[in-house]
Amino acid sequence: MAKRPAAARGLPALGAAICRCRACPRRVAWREEVAANRRAAFADQEYWGRPVPGFGASDAVIGLLGLAPAAHGGNRTGRIFTGDRSGDVLFAALHRAGLANQPTSVSRDDGLELRHTRIFASVRCAPPANKPTPEERDTCAPWLHREVELLRPTLRVVVALGAFAWSAWWPTLQAVYGLAAPSPRPKFAHGALWFAGGAPRLLGCYHVSQQNTFTGRLTPDMLDEVLSRAKTLAGLG
Ligand code: SF4
Repeated sequence: MAKRPAAARGLPALGAAICRCRACPRRVAWREEVAANRRAAFADQEYWGRPVPGFGASDAVIGLLGLAPAAHGGNRTGRIFTGDRSGDVLFAALHRAGLANQPTSVSRDDGLELRHTRIFASVRCAPPANKPTPEERDTCAPWLHREVELLRPTLRVVVALGAFAWSAWWPTLQAVYGLAAPSPRPKFAHGALWFAGGAPRLLGCYHVSQQNTFTGRLTPDMLDEVLSRAKTLAGLG
């Protein structure tokens, strides 16, 4: 597994390689089962049913690190955070921040473009119950590491959307930047900031899931504040 991500010479090649991955039997079975048994509202659509690559600028200064594609969102449309409620909240905020050319994200060919920003997931296939196992996270980690490695020349800030993404950053720090994870590990919190010389700043943000946005735990103002801070940290003013 480790050799295939390393062999990808650019982000397009990496994305193509990710899309062919079948390293986790449970994930492969689940993503394909969901694709075969579509939700009624999407019965006329062909589901992607494969791993979902990163999306956005190849010279991004801001990275948004999520959990995993949603079963009927990214796993349906083939683009991360596209076609689900989490994405509705996220892309509207990115548009308000001037980091996206439009506030909506509904399909791979909807014209959406990100500015200075790339979105990628800690694991690339939709997990059952939206909960990847630690083993699956570790198996998928080399894809994340290679994506960050390819972005390394420009990447200045990583916004971790939730505690799972926050925890996925420490092995990335070691693999890409050669920096040992701090001990004890800094705890995830909304607004938490961590950095070490040579690595991008890590900024915590509650995940944009419905559990958080429908309950008011994460409001649009809170998300705007995080993105504004990320822009400042990345030197975008
Ligand atoms: S979760 Fe990651 S490692 Fe596992 S099959 Fe999907 S892309 Fe491959």
